Amino acid sequence: MASMKTPDRMEKIVSLCKRRGFVFAGSDIYGGLSGTWDYGPLGAELSHNIKELWWKTFVQSREDMYGLQSSLIMPEAVWRASGHLSGFTDPMVECTNCKKRFRADHLEGKNKEQHTCPSCGGKLGEEKVFNLLFPVAMGSTEVSGNMGYLRGEIAQGMFVNFKNILDTYHPTLPFGIAQIGKAFRNEIAPRDFLFRVREFDLMEFEYFIREEEWQEIFEMWRTEMWRWIELVGIKKELVSELEVAPEDRAHYSKRTIDFEFEFPFGKKELYGLAYRTDYDLRAHMSASGVDLQYFDQEKNERFVPHVIEPTFGHGRTMMAVLASAYTEDTLGDEPRVYLAFHPRIAPVKVAVFPLLKNKPELVAKAREVYSLLKKEIPQTVFDDNGNIGKRYRRQDEIGTPFCVTIDFDTLEKEGETVTLRHRDTGEQTRLSVSELISYIKKAIV
Ligand SMILES: [Zn+2]
Repeated sequence: MASMKTPDRMEKIVSLCKRRGFVFAGSDIYGGLSGTWDYGPLGAELSHNIKELWWKTFVQSREDMYGLQSSLIMPEAVWRASGHLSGFTDPMVECTNCKKRFRADHLEGKNKEQHTCPSCGGKLGEEKVFNLLFPVAMGSTEVSGNMGYLRGEIAQGMFVNFKNILDTYHPTLPFGIAQIGKAFRNEIAPRDFLFRVREFDLMEFEYFIREEEWQEIFEMWRTEMWRWIELVGIKKELVSELEVAPEDRAHYSKRTIDFEFEFPFGKKELYGLAYRTDYDLRAHMSASGVDLQYFDQEKNERFVPHVIEPTFGHGRTMMAVLASAYTEDTLGDEPRVYLAFHPRIAPVKVAVFPLLKNKPELVAKAREVYSLLKKEIPQTVFDDNGNIGKRYRRQDEIGTPFCVTIDFDTLEKEGETVTLRHRDTGEQTRLSVSELISYIKKAIV
């Protein structure tokens, strides 16, 4: 079934992201650097919430996972052993006229048939193999063999630290090594907002197993990945699995499932689940000369473990979460746009307003409630700009699940009640301040 493309919707999301301070073009005042994006205050909070939730879910709440933060720069030897120096490539063509470069496999229609430039119509040159690793010149003198690369995947950090974890923690199989961090790809043609970029965060773990248990453990992580999709607030009905054909799999993999998301620009890969066999540990063992075998004390046997690898693109999660949350509806006869984030990842959990900004007693009380909430729920904001209706709309647009208004009843009636307004329905309830804190704390778990 052909996926439904709605570029219009994508433009609206990108424009909201810029207007409200979620995502800006990288190095914007210099015209932007393609394939790089900067997260503004709300994007940084959303990004942080997603990473924290992932870390809590896959690392902190488990006994079989070891956290790691490895270096972004790794020597050439690592990438030669991993196969990236020869295999991490895209086919590229360059226009003989305007010198622009394109992915040969992304050419469409007459540009593909007649081998002409999509930009100027000029003749395209020969197809070349282009390596996606970012080279880094290290030190003051250029010594051959001293070349480093920004990591093309974060997985190699886990493999080169495998022995460190074995020696310091003595874990028993199965166990995983997890990290969240930047990876880099020297993309020929970055595109589709946060989707195809040159610098991005990955959330990933290598789960080390005995070869004979790979199918069972593959299925376990498949289930857990679906659980995560729901947890982070991605619409399940927009996600589907794709069994990757042998000829399309990465050089190290024996089985791969892509989790694809129905992005507004088409159905594309969101997450991946790969069985990497013992390829990487074996490659590093042979290249480094260091023994990377696991010793099973009970069975008194030594062997190289196999690996199941669930990979979660962080920028792609941001986009899938935004695309899932973006909603247009009518509330009180007025059209509105809001982001229906799950409260657990919303960048702002609660906004506090005084009903009127020119009544000092209301403002003082609102400030007091705000301070109380802020101590318990750091992602709380104060807003007294414009009328109450406008404040609601502004908060709806950035996905704030709860708004709290302090009015004359708060001051005059007993029990200090406030109005709690729910984003999705616009429904309002009255609660005491202490009830309010426990209500919101429960909702954001
Ligand atoms: Zn051209």
